[in-house]
Amino acid sequence: MALSTVQPFDLAIAGAGVFGLSIAHCALKKGLRVVVLEANYVGAGASGGLLGALMPHMPARWNPKKEFQFQALLKLEDHIEQLEFETGLSCGYRRCGRILPLTTQDKLEHHLERAEESKQRWHPKQTGFSYLVEPAGSRSDWLNATAAPFGIVYETLAARASPRSYLQVLAAFVSTRGTLIEGAEVTGFEEASGTVLLAGNREPVRANRLVLSGGFAAFDLIEQFTGERIGRGEKGQALILEGKGLENRPAIYCDGLYVVPHANGTVAIGSTSEREFSDATPSPGRSRELIDRATAFCPQLAGREVVTDWAGIRPRCNKRDPLIGQLPGHDAVYAATGGFKISFGIAHQIADCLVAEMTGDAPTYELPATFKPDHHFGINRLDADI
Ligand SMILES: Cc1cc2nc3c(=O)[nH]c(=O)nc-3n(C[C@H](O)[C@H](O)[C@H](O)COP(=O)(O)OP(=O)(O)OC[C@H]3O[C@@H](n4cnc5c(N)ncnc54)[C@H](O)[C@@H]3O)c2cc1C
Repeated sequence: MALSTVQPFDLAIAGAGVFGLSIAHCALKKGLRVVVLEANYVGAGASGGLLGALMPHMPARWNPKKEFQFQALLKLEDHIEQLEFETGLSCGYRRCGRILPLTTQDKLEHHLERAEESKQRWHPKQTGFSYLVEPAGSRSDWLNATAAPFGIVYETLAARASPRSYLQVLAAFVSTRGTLIEGAEVTGFEEASGTVLLAGNREPVRANRLVLSGGFAAFDLIEQFTGERIGRGEKGQALILEGKGLENRPAIYCDGLYVVPHANGTVAIGSTSEREFSDATPSPGRSRELIDRATAFCPQLAGREVVTDWAGIRPRCNKRDPLIGQLPGHDAVYAATGGFKISFGIAHQIADCLVAEMTGDAPTYELPATFKPDHHFGINRLDADI
């Protein structure tokens, strides 16, 4: 039967990245009828990447955004376990921990303060997670001792997942319990009649609400609905090396790069950040640079075969924080985008908040004010800053 003639969906979601699929997953579990409309294919956007770092913000200068992410990371393990149980598929998740090198006396002192603050912020007695400074030479079979002359931080809250597997697991759940249509680009929404317009000759879809979760491309649609441009895309590049035997090592963050060992015997290295870019494909020169920089502080990566490289475009709001909620001037149009570098660790909690806003339920954890539309529109918009 044509989708336009059946009973309208409660919710249409434009974009099958980690935000869109997490919202669909949450809404389906709350009993809503959901359709996800994806312009290309699942994982076509930034969520189809390689790195999968689920890294907490530093326990310093604490604020509601850091607390939100902390709460999300605490819950993620159970969320993924449940999702894996529901689908029988793996997300490649592991609480791997993270090493940070201390390169100067100043940094050592700074991180000793953070270690102290972590006792207040991370509640180690209740959660079991620690942020500790270890002496020079610690864990030097993984992070080169010369890269950490003043010691290291070793924290146990950080985790990793395979972005592509996580996405496929969410997509499997959504296709089984709801409707997921690839090759369906949303171009508009007639709010009065609940008609979602699609590109090409595709028949419209009827839905009572629409969520714009098209990653960086969502900023175009948001502008179409509100007349305001509140974010942009930022290119990033990563790669994976063969990494047999390294699967259980912690992640390293050094020299602005993550090294993240994965369950399938690969190690991801990333990422670059480019505000200006003319094409969205990976550059071989940048891949070489990533390998050289990572090998310098992690010699066990030397000579390992490159499995693949990849580039994507991160959605970044003007004010850095994600935009989650109802668009100004619209009763039935919502947005969820701008996760920038931390989307994978918070998507499930973002989804819970957005669906709660629609159903009138209380969210399990409140959105920070800086994630709400009021923070992003008006004086905060990108072109207003220039
Ligand atoms: C190199 C790199 C490394 C990264 N590493 C990490 C990391 O380690 N940890 C982390 O948490 N985050 C990381 N990120 C960031 C993370 O990948 C993004 O923030 C996240 O994937 C954004 O998810 P999204 O669902 O908002 O958008 P996307 O994943 O971009 O998904 C949007 C989807 O919407 C579709 N779409 C667009 N317009 C429309 C439309 N009109 N109609 C229908 N569909 C549409 C697109 O085809 C796409 O599939 C990294 C990003 C990059 C580039």
